[in-house]
Amino acid sequence: MTIQKYPLTWTKNNFSIKIFCSIPNIATGILLRAENSYFVIDPGDGILRDLNKEIGTQKILSITDIFITHGHHDHVGGVWSLLTYLRVMNKKTPLSIHYPKGCVEIESIFNAFERVYSKSISYKIELKSITEKKNFKKKNLIIKPFPVIHKEYYSDGAKTRQVPALGYNFTFDGTKICYGGDTSYCKELVVHAKGADLAVIEAGHDDDTPDDMHMTLNEARSIGESAKDYFLVHVPE
Ligand SMILES: [Zn+2]
Ligand SMILES: [Zn+2]
Repeated sequence: MTIQKYPLTWTKNNFSIKIFCSIPNIATGILLRAENSYFVIDPGDGILRDLNKEIGTQKILSITDIFITHGHHDHVGGVWSLLTYLRVMNKKTPLSIHYPKGCVEIESIFNAFERVYSKSISYKIELKSITEKKNFKKKNLIIKPFPVIHKEYYSDGAKTRQVPALGYNFTFDGTKICYGGDTSYCKELVVHAKGADLAVIEAGHDDDTPDDMHMTLNEARSIGESAKDYFLVHVPE
């Protein structure tokens, strides 16, 4: 496996993932399809353009769930435009946004959206804050969230803090895709990626010294190789 050019696509048994892009500090955007159901993961900047080109308006309107790994802008930058587009296009069916508990970015975007458009939102938005590693099911998809280790700097540039951050395993009809989100090397990801049909693993660290924000290429590869197939993403460009 080598680092590939975006978009990255993988399909097995009517279950597919398309990674439009995954570039640290710029944007992520991922579409998951299980048979005829569409789900969005980490809608960064540009997601609306990519979804429109890939599946068009009607299928965008059919999206039931968005999964957020954490609140950094390269993973949530497209949420506002997606919510607004669904309103403008008169979506009628509910939308759930799943995110790690404490992710203030998602709650702030949602609150601002409701305040700005309070009288003209055509669909129900359900915020689903995830607090535990419990499986849940949406349509034909089984979702297993798990905590990962991902930090950010305070403004002094010296101290760091852990941000609420999740990875997800998505299973459809026995086929499993593991997406770790942004994470340093951690046991939870090691456990959840092992044996998956596809693991999508970040290698966002730009040198060979391990830290607690992103993984080095070697760390990411070692986890990817425990799955049946893998992509390395979020590699600095
Ligand atoms: Zn990122
Ligand atoms: Zn991040």
